[in-house]
Amino acid sequence: MATKLLLTFAICRLIVTMGLTLEPTELLRLGLTVDPVDVESASVDFGLMTKVEPLAVLRPSSAEDVAQLVKAAYESSHGFTVSARGHGHSINGQAQTGTGVVVQMSGVRSSGKPSVWGGDMYVDVWGGELWIDVLKSCLEYGLAPKSWTDYLYLSVGGTLSIAGISGQAFHHGPQISNVHELDVVTGKGELMTCSKEQNPELFHAVLGGLGQFGIITRARISLEPAPQRVRWIRVLYSNFSAFTKDQEYLISLHGNQKFDYVEGFVIVDEGLINNWRSSFFSPRNPVKISSLGSNNNGGVLYCLEINKNYHESTAETIDQEIEALLKKLNFIPTSVFTTDLPYVDFLDRVHKAELKLRSKGMWEVPHPWLNLFVPKSKIADFDRGVFKGILGNKTSGPILIYPMNKNKWDDKSSVVTPDEDVFYLVAFLRSALDNGEETQSLEYLTNQNRLILKFCDEDGIKVKQYLPHYKTQSEWKEHYGSKWDRFQRMKMKFDPRHILASGQNIFTPTFLSSSKMASW
Ligand code: FAD
Repeated sequence: MATKLLLTFAICRLIVTMGLTLEPTELLRLGLTVDPVDVESASVDFGLMTKVEPLAVLRPSSAEDVAQLVKAAYESSHGFTVSARGHGHSINGQAQTGTGVVVQMSGVRSSGKPSVWGGDMYVDVWGGELWIDVLKSCLEYGLAPKSWTDYLYLSVGGTLSIAGISGQAFHHGPQISNVHELDVVTGKGELMTCSKEQNPELFHAVLGGLGQFGIITRARISLEPAPQRVRWIRVLYSNFSAFTKDQEYLISLHGNQKFDYVEGFVIVDEGLINNWRSSFFSPRNPVKISSLGSNNNGGVLYCLEINKNYHESTAETIDQEIEALLKKLNFIPTSVFTTDLPYVDFLDRVHKAELKLRSKGMWEVPHPWLNLFVPKSKIADFDRGVFKGILGNKTSGPILIYPMNKNKWDDKSSVVTPDEDVFYLVAFLRSALDNGEETQSLEYLTNQNRLILKFCDEDGIKVKQYLPHYKTQSEWKEHYGSKWDRFQRMKMKFDPRHILASGQNIFTPTFLSSSKMASW
């Protein structure tokens, strides 16, 4: 009883602070809370580099609850911000807000299970659903989404606001290329259904739109028959040009005679072999890096990671198919590492590594990640200047590198990619440790990120940040380039008071004076 009274009191204070037009009972019914546990968890993210406490947290049970809150924010006389939060796996506070409410989309009571429509090959899911749960529901029907992220404990709304990429993107495109329809609550509090045919402007703006135009409450995702097993292969290269030539060849293949997943990573020191992406090699596949020619190559090796999905009924031909594909590649002949596992274990591989790191206290540490799209024509320059230059021989985490085909990305979406037919994702997935080693400190790694961006700028390597993070609007304008005008127009149309996803730091909420903004 006392707790309820305190909560009602806190909510009455909020009503005054935020200029809300809703009654306290109505706010409680919507799922608004100021419980310190909810507030604390909404004030941090995976990056652990930014802490911002919201005024309150909404735990909605339906799209209508979200719409009612956003409408109240849009109509409020004082104004307040609303930020959707999926699983909070951003790096730089993108899902946080200090001037309003965080809508906790994942892990809320509402959503219900994903609805799988087997005949039409799609699934309807709540925007806060985690991809691991989408997978589990679809597998009950022998189906699965086509395009993934490497890690499945991310929300559907969170990855569709970014793009969502993994080793399938070369063929299926990013996750945003595999969505038929969305329900979205705009910054005016309107709940709208959109697709390529219905409200197409909103549909395209929201996909890869960094949460700027609306909160995704439902997504209709395209499915395919789920493979049962995966043959997962890693091969090594000491020659960067041979490595990228093979990756580019592999992503040019179509039809059945191709791998289903193409990724890769850079190995700049033997320590990396023990990190969370590389458990694959051990203990059954011990690798002695120095024995594979990295000494002749500035200590750098490149690992191509590929897989072929299959059904048990076609198991007898899988070896031949893989052999035929591997024959065309130029890796170090003694460096083939193969494993075979159920499809779901392959997709959920990073979670295993997460559990290991958690047990060692190494998951909840700052993550100064840097993700870049690098044009194909400059990837060799990037190798020379960054992998063999700036990095030295310490990395503090995996460095992914894999190419994608631009024609699998819909240019109408809000994402920006380099202006070439093929571009690479280069992802520096670093963990900062407070263990006295300078090269693992947050300051050192953050500075290294700066040096990498500076090198690209000075060398004319026109990279685009993936999961972009900028501090000023002029940097955002440059990031969006020719898409900026449309981006801004869509913002005016769908979120005219700039109340949504202010943690991205692209637009200033209109109710905040510039002096208030500076003190955020
Ligand atoms: P949050 O961090 O909660 O939110 C991210 C942004 O999206 C915020 O601006 C938020 O306001 C907005 N948002 C959240 N939900 C909604 C919604 N329903 N509607 C509208 N806007 C919303 N990315 C890849 O592409 N490929 C990978 O392989 C990959 N692997 C990763 C592995 C790890 C361990 C981590 C931590 C991240 C990885 N990412 C990867 C990045 C990840 O996709 C993004 O950070 C994504 O935004 C996180 O989803 P989330 O649900 O945690 O979003």
